Amino acid sequence: MSDVSGSELRALMARVPSVEKVMASAEFAALIVEYGRTQVLGAVREALDTWRAGAQSGDASVSALDVAQLKSSVEAALRQRNESRLRSVFNLTGTVLHTNLGRALLPDEAVQAVMKALTQPANLEFDLGTGKRGDRDDLIDDLICELTGAEAATVVNNNAAAVLLTLSALASKKEVIVSRGELVEIGGAFRIPDIMSRAGAKLREVGTTNRTHLKDYEEAIGPQTALLMKVHASNYAISGFTKEVALDEIAPLAHTRGLAVAVDLGSGTLVDLSQWGLPRETTVRETVEAGADIVTFSGDKLLGGPQAGLIVGRRDLIAKIKKHPLKRALRVGKLTLAALEPVLQLYRAPERLTQRLTTLRLLTRAAGDIRLAAERVQPALQHAFGERYAVTAEPMFSQIGSGALPVDVLPSYGLVVKTVDGKRGGRQLLALEKRLREMARPVIGRIADDALRLDLRCLEAADEAELIEQLKGVRA
Ligand SMILES: *Cc1c(COP(=O)(O)O)cnc(C)c1O
Repeated sequence: MSDVSGSELRALMARVPSVEKVMASAEFAALIVEYGRTQVLGAVREALDTWRAGAQSGDASVSALDVAQLKSSVEAALRQRNESRLRSVFNLTGTVLHTNLGRALLPDEAVQAVMKALTQPANLEFDLGTGKRGDRDDLIDDLICELTGAEAATVVNNNAAAVLLTLSALASKKEVIVSRGELVEIGGAFRIPDIMSRAGAKLREVGTTNRTHLKDYEEAIGPQTALLMKVHASNYAISGFTKEVALDEIAPLAHTRGLAVAVDLGSGTLVDLSQWGLPRETTVRETVEAGADIVTFSGDKLLGGPQAGLIVGRRDLIAKIKKHPLKRALRVGKLTLAALEPVLQLYRAPERLTQRLTTLRLLTRAAGDIRLAAERVQPALQHAFGERYAVTAEPMFSQIGSGALPVDVLPSYGLVVKTVDGKRGGRQLLALEKRLREMARPVIGRIADDALRLDLRCLEAADEAELIEQLKGVRA
């Protein structure tokens, strides 16, 4: 390591351009236009400080500094600092409704509506008929009722908020009866017992993990009971010696005792998915028809809309929910309402839903079609990874995600990457997975069975072209 001598250092320092001179230079004019004087000035000072510190500590790599050099380092720093932290990725995980990747992708109708709501004033809480103050729920509650058969509806921030608000408004300081088999935790710390206590309601557990009978509910009903509640098991399945009491048995029991039944449906689909060969899920309408007084479900799961929690049910109960102070704290913004309305409108033409609703289009995409995509992308991925890896197009299984049962899988196709020598696959695969994640548009896959797996179900045409372009730019 060659030390910079005292006199060399003084000479170097003397040649450092002043901040004023740098800022006035032709090289920096364009940067100032792009990022503004304040930011550029800050970045220049930082770069000069770093350079000085390096020079003083005798860092051999530090040499005389010129304006052009300074410009490229300042520009790189500014670009990095101003990069969006929320970035587009390629979801090749095979999980269509991936909570960590933002769940449902919205159709173009919703995108257009959000753009308008962002840039133009709207009648969010303004009654155009009377010129008086309106209610934001009025924009959408008729449409939700039409699609679910419910008497009334309201919308909040997400389904967790919907459950919290429902319990706070209808069961505070009272008891809620829930089967032990339904006391679930949904990823990201949503646990029914916790929500219950936050809402000030007392959980009354009945039955056992695997079996609950109507008699269990019947015997638990007392003077403190406010609600009977059913929760969709979402992300787990109980099999074997099991017994769950169906809603159409619980509802009559509750109603003869003057009580209400709330159902947390979780994903809450509006259409029978089995018509497209997807796993059958009870629809919101069927749940209302089976006697639920309140049903809560997410906007960005199977519904295919923006993050939201929909609450539908009996008019008097919805009125009570809307009056609760928490409603104001949990309400949705105009962007959510703008996005939700056109998504719900698509459901008026169910025969076109698999084309127009992005989530359903992805879920129903045929394995044969995905196979063709896999064969088109394969050469680019093989080129990017080089000869030490074998990239093959192979059948695999996608998942619906977001609380749809993990046991329900969809036949799909994708690319499987394995090491050619078969040795130390683990570490090499982790490194490959990291390389994909660090690309300009990160590629998110998964490692399973000693291979890196990229499921192409969610790679639609425009994205496919972009991915191939990006992979072509990679040197093996
Ligand atoms: C997903 C889910 C929730 C939480 O919904 P969010 O919209 O994510 O807040 C609550 N209950 C059930 C049964 C779920 O599946």
